[in-house]
Amino acid sequence: MGSVPEVRVDESFFSALAQPGIQRLRAYDPGHDLVAFRRRFEGRHLVELGSNENPYGPSARAKEAVLGTIHDSFRYPDPLGGDLNRALAAKHGVDVGSILLGNGSHELLMQFAQVFAGPGVDVVASKFGFAVYAIAAQCAGATLRVAPCHADAHAMPRGHDLDAIAAAITDTTRLVYLANPNNPTGTWYDADAFAAFMAKVPGDVVVVVDEAYAEFVDAPGWASALTVQARHPNLVVTRTFSKAYALAGLRVGFAIGHPALIAVMERARESFNVNSAGLAAAEAALGDEEHLRWVVARNAEQRAALATALHDRGLRVFPSQTNFLLVQFAEPGDEARVAGIEAALCERGIVLRPMGGYGLGHCLRITVGNADENRRLLAGLDEVRA
Ligand SMILES: *Cc1c(COP(=O)(O)O)cnc(C)c1O
Repeated sequence: MGSVPEVRVDESFFSALAQPGIQRLRAYDPGHDLVAFRRRFEGRHLVELGSNENPYGPSARAKEAVLGTIHDSFRYPDPLGGDLNRALAAKHGVDVGSILLGNGSHELLMQFAQVFAGPGVDVVASKFGFAVYAIAAQCAGATLRVAPCHADAHAMPRGHDLDAIAAAITDTTRLVYLANPNNPTGTWYDADAFAAFMAKVPGDVVVVVDEAYAEFVDAPGWASALTVQARHPNLVVTRTFSKAYALAGLRVGFAIGHPALIAVMERARESFNVNSAGLAAAEAALGDEEHLRWVVARNAEQRAALATALHDRGLRVFPSQTNFLLVQFAEPGDEARVAGIEAALCERGIVLRPMGGYGLGHCLRITVGNADENRRLLAGLDEVRA
């Protein structure tokens, strides 16, 4: 180990040895190399608006709880995450057997495909759905069926078209991924539309509703899929501590589902998948509802102000119920100009998320920052678009 390799191989050599789904797979794109940016902009302002992180930070109680774990023996964490599990079950009014903890919800999204999909099975997701669903399906060796999204002129352009998603389900479908609200579009669907959708889905198709941004929603017609879960044992909801709770670096997510479904998922869970610091922080954060309310209120206020400011600059801002905005900077075909704007912002220490990977290279995804970050973003935009 550690010696100079004597045999030269390239990635294609091992790709040919991989499972068929993985041969065709490209790794998840986490956006710009932020570690390199932080080094480059050390001592200067870096405005990080590319990863939908929370600019306000976690509850002070969560930080304290993490510090408390420093004095532990660093033995293995509680394999069942018992305290966090109980706290989540109490908060959501479900049985502890209904909760499954993940190393971020990303891990659980992958695990659903590992457990319920595979060769010969199809997985249904929406066009412009979160990129992880396609990766999960491909890693499991399943076939991904992408349903069309709402047309550009529709009231919720690029949002999930639940009728089209239901129509894409076939006899070989075992798994459907929805995000409500969705990333990268910020769009959402109403509770009534979802109830009608679930009535059409066969009971042997597992429907995963990714609610990573649920805490930020204030649209009146919206409701969590949890509200109809009692009627649909095949419906499972994922949530995360990465966004509104500001614990992205500690990697804690969870799923809520029927105990019978969760028990099967549990068989494939990596033992000790959530570490001690994450367990402690998440439990403490859950207990600080006042901090959460404060973050959500700040986000709503800044989201509205930023959307207005971008709209006033002649940009098309898609409706959003999240902590980010999808913004169209040019007509399709003019992606190079948008890439130029994005690169010029990077030079000024303003990091956004390019959307080329989603086929939306004429748009950028902008995390809603705090007032100071949003001001810097707008000033930077006015400079580079002048
Ligand atoms: C950020 C995000 C997640 C959360 O990922 P974690 O692994 O919990 O950090 C899940 N789904 C969507 C749509 C997201 O944008």
